[in-house]
Amino acid sequence: MHLSMSRIQLLSPRLANQIAAGEVVERPASVVKELLENSLDAGATQIEIDVEQGGMKLIRLRDNGGGIEEQDLPLALSRHATSKILVLEDLEAVNSLGFRGEALASISSVSRLTLTSRRSDAPSAWQVQTEGRDMEPVVSPAAHPQGTCVEVRDLFFNTPARRKFMRTEQTEFKHLEEVVKRLALSRSDVSFVLRHNGRVIHQLRPARTEQDHERRISSVCGPAFIDQALSLDMCAEASGLRLWGWMGLPTFSRSQTDLQYFFVNGRIIRDKLVAHAVRQAYQDVLFHGRHPAFVLYLELDPRLVDVNVHPTKHEVRFREGRLVHDFIFRTLHRVIADVRPEAAVSSAAASLDGGQAADPAPGIPGINAQQFEQGRMPLAQAPLGGSAAAGSSSGSGFQSDYSPAATSLGAVRDQINGYGALHVSANGAGGLGGPGANSAQDAALAAAQAQGEVAPPLGYALAHLHGIYILAQNEQGLVLVDMHAAHERIVYERMKQAYETEVVRSQPLLVPLSMAVSQNEADCAEEQAAVFQRLGFELSRMGEESLVVRQVPVSLARGNIEQLIRDVLSDMLTYGQSQRIENHINELLGTMACHGAVRANRQLSVPEMNGLLRDMEITERSGQCNHGRPTWTQLSLNELDKLFMRGR
Ligand code: ADP
Ligand code: MG
Repeated sequence: MHLSMSRIQLLSPRLANQIAAGEVVERPASVVKELLENSLDAGATQIEIDVEQGGMKLIRLRDNGGGIEEQDLPLALSRHATSKILVLEDLEAVNSLGFRGEALASISSVSRLTLTSRRSDAPSAWQVQTEGRDMEPVVSPAAHPQGTCVEVRDLFFNTPARRKFMRTEQTEFKHLEEVVKRLALSRSDVSFVLRHNGRVIHQLRPARTEQDHERRISSVCGPAFIDQALSLDMCAEASGLRLWGWMGLPTFSRSQTDLQYFFVNGRIIRDKLVAHAVRQAYQDVLFHGRHPAFVLYLELDPRLVDVNVHPTKHEVRFREGRLVHDFIFRTLHRVIADVRPEAAVSSAAASLDGGQAADPAPGIPGINAQQFEQGRMPLAQAPLGGSAAAGSSSGSGFQSDYSPAATSLGAVRDQINGYGALHVSANGAGGLGGPGANSAQDAALAAAQAQGEVAPPLGYALAHLHGIYILAQNEQGLVLVDMHAAHERIVYERMKQAYETEVVRSQPLLVPLSMAVSQNEADCAEEQAAVFQRLGFELSRMGEESLVVRQVPVSLARGNIEQLIRDVLSDMLTYGQSQRIENHINELLGTMACHGAVRANRQLSVPEMNGLLRDMEITERSGQCNHGRPTWTQLSLNELDKLFMRGR
């Protein structure tokens, strides 16, 4: 039959639903997502999910939510029927997970679906199924406690083309399990049970306390994550934004983006703007090609975010994209910048004093969640971004014989060279210093304690091991420092600071570079001219759709300027800002720092080592080197005792 010869006909309801199902029901996991969201919307506090054959044969979800009226049952299965919104205004501030009223209709058009429900005030339960091409619902009495049970059998039994897209039982189950995990993370107050082929896979109790909540995160994301995560909670009073949750230490990075959960008002999302802000925050502390792990919750006025952008509602649109981007970036950036020895050890010391703080996780440079909590400050007080905070908290009473933080790039370079000079003179004096040196350090620690002074968090150096590691003694026990990694971070942070406070030197291009751009991009370049100038670029508009670059920063002169500017403009248009130029400059500084930092296999004297320890204590991000590797670790006396099976 030739297409142009057919007449126009109205689709049967079932076919219309099957077409719509293409958007929301992709595989068993998507069915579970819709059913779980419905249960949560109905106020359920207990949800049980039974799955057979990866969900392809059976998905049964039972909840103790509000239930559905007998008369409403047939409606629940029809398209464009919802109890969640009534008028357009409701959509503008929607706080339920669903609102499109098409999930049950779609699912029931491509499976054998039974919906059983009972409201708390109803004398009995009712059940509904749909049959035939017009999807006439059949209602009958049933036995069921208060709540709702949805049973979905033989998914895609009547749509063979779709069925072909399903993978193996294991793969489908993995996807389904991931959906359950996400929703379990979004609502830790609800209990979840997931069974596969009769076996319990997850049993998650409701969380009431902060500790319960961490237990849930731990059972969903693995205990290693929560042990190596920083907890945070920041509010921006003015804009009503709140960001809280857990972010993995940079040293707990992953090869994939599989441990990244971001919730906006309780809804999991995968958003370009958010992803960009998070990536920016971790930039500079992550190993190349590694991805951070996080479970973060953003809360804001529902009117400031549009969730009706996509049928699966995975994407959102923020009314104030730049503001949100900025808030996320700054908050996370600050938390990472504060990963310094000082914070970790000082609160560990608090626990020695009989405080409630838990021991820091063994072998982890940094902080456990609780400790971080103590250091958190309201956004208004926190000096966000830039170079503040460093130097505000060096160990009191301790005089470093190591030169203070350099204030210009030139001085930083001198300091790097200074290290070199020190090595020469240090030969023989330092290294695995004799017993004399050790007892001197012991004495220093004891003296500091006796005088009631707070000993520096990283303690005092004892020895230099194989020219690589510094061994130091602090109140908790033994500190091990990777000298090169630590020094590299210190030099790098100083170079960045110096770079920020200095005027960026730029040089004219021999031949000015003209670039064809879109009108949008040209407008943006014009608007942001001051930003470009501050970073050392001189560029101006030549016409509707062209730019000319006359001057560039000296340090970038040999790079691909045109590509860089294009990328920056694209960032500015999409995210409202761009960090690319700074990133490029930072990368260069990082390389310089790496080459400038003390190399392994050089002996440092005890005073030099102590100087390095003091510097680490006041340097931002000094928990990791520029490549995201840890710079130091602590072995407490407890841990040492365990090694030697020494009972206390
Ligand atoms: P939506 O969730 O977008 O409203 P659905 O097709 O998923 O659309 O569900 C249709 C309606 O059925 C919902 O609006 C709700 O009133 C009712 N419903 C579905 N599942 C449940 C449940 N588990 N408990 C109570 N009511 C439910
Ligand atoms: Mg729904």
